[in-house]
Amino acid sequence: MTDPAAPGLNAPMFEAGAFRLTAQQVELTALARRLGMEKFGPRAPEHDRDASFPTANYEDLRAAGLLAICVPKEHGGLGADYPTYMLTAAEIGRYCGSTALTLNMHVCSCLWTGALADELEMTTAERREHDRRRALHYARIVEQGKVYAQPFSEGGPAAAGAAPFATKATAIKGGWRVDGKKIFASLSGHADYYGVLCTEDKEGQSIRDTLYLAVPADAEGVRVVGEWDPLGMRATVSRNLLFEHARVGEDAQLMPRGIYYQAATRWPHMFLTLTPAYMGIAQAAYDFTVRYLRGEVPGTPPVKRRMYPTKQIAVAEMRLRLEQTKALWFQAIGEARLDPTKDQVLRAYAAQHTVMENANELCRLALRTCGGQAMLKALPLERLYRDSRCGSLMLPWTAEICLDRIGRQALYEPGERDEE
Ligand SMILES: Cc1cc2nc3c(=O)[nH]c(=O)nc-3n(C[C@H](O)[C@H](O)[C@H](O)COP(=O)(O)OP(=O)(O)OC[C@H]3O[C@@H](n4cnc5c(N)ncnc54)[C@H](O)[C@@H]3O)c2cc1C
Repeated sequence: MTDPAAPGLNAPMFEAGAFRLTAQQVELTALARRLGMEKFGPRAPEHDRDASFPTANYEDLRAAGLLAICVPKEHGGLGADYPTYMLTAAEIGRYCGSTALTLNMHVCSCLWTGALADELEMTTAERREHDRRRALHYARIVEQGKVYAQPFSEGGPAAAGAAPFATKATAIKGGWRVDGKKIFASLSGHADYYGVLCTEDKEGQSIRDTLYLAVPADAEGVRVVGEWDPLGMRATVSRNLLFEHARVGEDAQLMPRGIYYQAATRWPHMFLTLTPAYMGIAQAAYDFTVRYLRGEVPGTPPVKRRMYPTKQIAVAEMRLRLEQTKALWFQAIGEARLDPTKDQVLRAYAAQHTVMENANELCRLALRTCGGQAMLKALPLERLYRDSRCGSLMLPWTAEICLDRIGRQALYEPGERDEE
């Protein structure tokens, strides 16, 4: 299978033949690569400098049909499956990490309600209701180009899965009233809907009572608050959201009661979707280093630095780390499914940890290897370095939590305890 990318585009991150990509994967990754090289990459420095949202990138994503990448075909979308989405998003992350990361928040609203929900258990009535509601949601995206955000984090234990979300949904006549605060909501002020994870307010409520509600950004009682001036991923514009008696109708429910909990426990790879942005950054750091040492980076003098043995060894180290990262990540994204085996789950944590930590390590090696001029703001490397630092901090699978779970789950079977 040949890659339809035009000459002059970067090579694909995953070669079609070697990785046995499907025709759709070849097509969508090439599309993402073209948009990234021609549009998102050139716009990235300005949005990074100003911590501003890349609205024009979203217009391009919309025009290319990529806002509907995971909307099922029967609803007018591209119907991409999980690995296809992950590979496509990684290509976007090569050129603008923030665009890939925010796109993930939007795409989750389609993936979780679509391909993933299709595999979950529901009663016939729940399935019927879900199908009707998600059709409304998909129509907004396909016909009106609407964008969804994914406010999940609250600054408490809920985002790590250790407690119910403090944001509450109270049943009212004809729908729900939402009250609470979300932090770090990427796309804040730029999304049309916030896909809010919250807890149904009822007696004895637990993590099982998580609801997933689409709250319109312009609903009364919804406010974007706080500053946004972070180290990296600055174009995600992840400010805080306040929900103060925000009212939505019953059809705002993106999943039936109890189904989000089932997804989180039975389809754990749903949380691996934060990685493509950083997989793309890892590739970009390597690509930049090779070009820079060959004297081929546009806007820099054509000075070659490749003849020094220390540079060659550094590039070899980077290549080893990149190959290891890509191989593990590719394997893990192909294993996403309902009720994965214990080994598949441990591998998913390992992939998350590896991508997030190695993206930053590759950027660090790139800066050290290319030298002082390469860290000037006129070049992308220092932005890649700052963006890459954010990956291992992202809940629910931070690098620390991945280590914690891999160690514990490798040593203990479910229910096993040590003797007193
Ligand atoms: C650029 C960017 C964009 C983001 N976009 C979004 C978004 O769109 N939506 C969203 O919901 N969130 C988003 N986040 C938030 C992110 O996922 C985390 O929730 C956030 O970074 C956590 O910050 P915190 O200081 O509140 O973490 P804390 O909860 O204070 O945790 C600090 C650290 O302690 C460890 N820890 C926490 N809980 C546990 C536990 N139970 N067991 C073991 N260790 C634990 C973790 O390693 C964690 O990194 C974004 C973050 C960044 C950096």
